[in-house]
Amino acid sequence: MTIPLSEFTREHRWKMPGLLLRMLQMGKQRYIPYENLLPDAVLLDVMIPKMDGFAVCAEIRKLTGGDLTPIFMMTGMDDMASINQAFEIGATDFIAKPPNWKTLGHNVRYMLRASQEKNQALLNAIPDLMFRISREGIFREYRSNSDSGLIMPPEEFLGKRVDEVLPQDVALQAMHYVKRALQTGEMQLFEYQLMMMDTTYYYEARIAACGADEVLANVRDISERKKSEKEIIRLAYYEGLTGLPNRVLFKDRLGVAVSRAQRNRTNIVIMFLDIDHCKRIDDRLGHTIGDMILQGVAERLTHCLRKTDNISRRVCDSEITTIACMGGDELTILSTDIDKLYDLAYVAQRICDFLVRPFEIGSYVIYITVSIGMTIYPSDSDDVDTMLKNADTAMYYAKDRGGNNYQFYSESLNNAAKERFVMTNELLKALNCGEFHVYYQSQMYATSGKIIGVKVLVRWIHPEEGLLSPDLFIPIAEETSLIVPLGEWILQTACAQNRLWQALGISPIRVAVNISSVQFRQNNFVETVKRILSETGLDPCNLELELTESLIMEHAESTITTLAELKAFGLHLSIDDFGTGYSSLSYLKRFLINTLKIDKAFVRDVDTDPDSGAIVKAIIAMGRHFNLELLAEGVETAQEFAFLHEFGCEQRQGYWFCNPLPSDGLPHFLTGREACEYLFNAVRRVRD
Ligand code: C2E
Ligand code: MG
Repeated sequence: MTIPLSEFTREHRWKMPGLLLRMLQMGKQRYIPYENLLPDAVLLDVMIPKMDGFAVCAEIRKLTGGDLTPIFMMTGMDDMASINQAFEIGATDFIAKPPNWKTLGHNVRYMLRASQEKNQALLNAIPDLMFRISREGIFREYRSNSDSGLIMPPEEFLGKRVDEVLPQDVALQAMHYVKRALQTGEMQLFEYQLMMMDTTYYYEARIAACGADEVLANVRDISERKKSEKEIIRLAYYEGLTGLPNRVLFKDRLGVAVSRAQRNRTNIVIMFLDIDHCKRIDDRLGHTIGDMILQGVAERLTHCLRKTDNISRRVCDSEITTIACMGGDELTILSTDIDKLYDLAYVAQRICDFLVRPFEIGSYVIYITVSIGMTIYPSDSDDVDTMLKNADTAMYYAKDRGGNNYQFYSESLNNAAKERFVMTNELLKALNCGEFHVYYQSQMYATSGKIIGVKVLVRWIHPEEGLLSPDLFIPIAEETSLIVPLGEWILQTACAQNRLWQALGISPIRVAVNISSVQFRQNNFVETVKRILSETGLDPCNLELELTESLIMEHAESTITTLAELKAFGLHLSIDDFGTGYSSLSYLKRFLINTLKIDKAFVRDVDTDPDSGAIVKAIIAMGRHFNLELLAEGVETAQEFAFLHEFGCEQRQGYWFCNPLPSDGLPHFLTGREACEYLFNAVRRVRD
């Protein structure tokens, strides 16, 4: 029978498979999706042209919503093979052929009711929450045997949108799967969690399209399962006493860290930490106290290696820090992306110091010490098991030295770390005891002899070693961040000195102070400079900050902002050692720099080495193009002087004019008289 779509009524619905079949047979493009037809039941003859009833039944079962439709097959009573086949492919029931047309309607209605009751019984047996949700996300129907998993009573959410009922993130996730279920016709599975009365509940949702405009969502509370899963993970990967990752998890994380370090060519360090004389504690105070001490050590370690803590930040903002308990009283620490050996020694020493503080357990006050062994990937080994063995060996080196200390696996690292440590402590002492001094080297115009300013150079007058060059200690001060207080002291001293010279009647000049990148990157750098200027009363135009090319290029965009702020405040800015680093020329203009300082390495051979000559000429040409001032550093000879004069670089600094001098050696130079005289004579000598 064919029913025109325009005349199609609800009464015809159950006859639709015939129509559907016809459409399938004709291969019509304008195939009406089954879900739009929504028959209440399908009466299907086995014997139909082209495609038999079994194939149609199988097709319907595959369609969205088709799996739930009752299908009644019409076969001969004695055709057992057909009856069996009909049930196998999913028919709901069968009707004997030929049908009694008068009673067929009653038969179908009866079977339909029986099928619905069966479905209902099935639904009732399911403990899950079931929702019917519209394409727009409106809760249309709800069914459950228990309301325990609901966040509000049904009357409050029925008719509301998903995002009015569920938290934003869960609602977004749910709507995503509703759309996908409707688009693909496939069942969607996802998990989400809800907080109710401070407890987190976990749910698993299955969403299936039901017709073209709504979905059925089956929601199951899986909180218990999640809890069990967590417990299984905890038992498998965490140590019971301390709650820290156990050996299995530590080795796994180490493996991941090694693969990453291999790819990124970075370092890893493993620290192996063991409580000294642990057995003695156990024997004297019992295992319970021993266990509590281990818990206390684990707690302190976790606390002091937290990302926010100073100690862990010393591990160069390492990306992964895993603290694990390997069993017994052995703890391990894994840190990646370590590039400063000094920081490791510092961290290890701090851990030793941190754990030496007494533990108060019940009525006992217990003092312990630890031994730490350290090994570094890839220099000591690149294999996980060997790394652990090396760290263990290094820990025994530390025990052999009496405990309460740390050792590297590599002897050379032990020596280097020690040297650094001694130097750092001495630097700290030097800063506190006033062993640093500021020297000044004047900078002048070659032709007029007019003083431009003075370069500020720090010196360390060591009580035993005498005068030490900054090249020896500035790098260590930078590594240990001691450059921050040291640099601030230098800036303060230079600004105060400049004010003093002005008070002595010397016309105002500029002091040019080197700024290290560590100093410059401090959040409060600009404030510190402003504060010092205000405290000393120095006019900002009499302070010059010298920054290196690499400092400027490191974080170019943020540097531009800081420099703009300093420039707006009236400071003079220059790039020191220009030509030795890498400069993106396009940035030069944006940096708001006043002066380029040509590095002494090029100036030294300017008259003899054609390459140096060419570099200096190029820097001068470029500086002029950008309207920058140019100053040549390290001018030592008349020939260098003449070359620079010829190519138009007039600002000079170098031993040929003036050595770095202590503050009291400079006033006569700054009055300019002697310098002028000296220079005019020098120029005359060169010309002659
Ligand atoms: P720099 O800032 O490029 O300083 C110029 C260096 O060249 C100084 O060495 C200076 O004494 C030296 N010099 C000056 N004229 C001549 C010359 O005609 N020939 C030769 N061969 N050398 C000359 P110094 O004082 O040993 O400083 C070395 C480096 O140490 C400085 O290079 C700078 O990078 C750093 N430094 C010095 N003082 C400070 C400071 O107060 N703070 C910071 N952050 N770094 C500093
Ligand atoms: Mg320089």
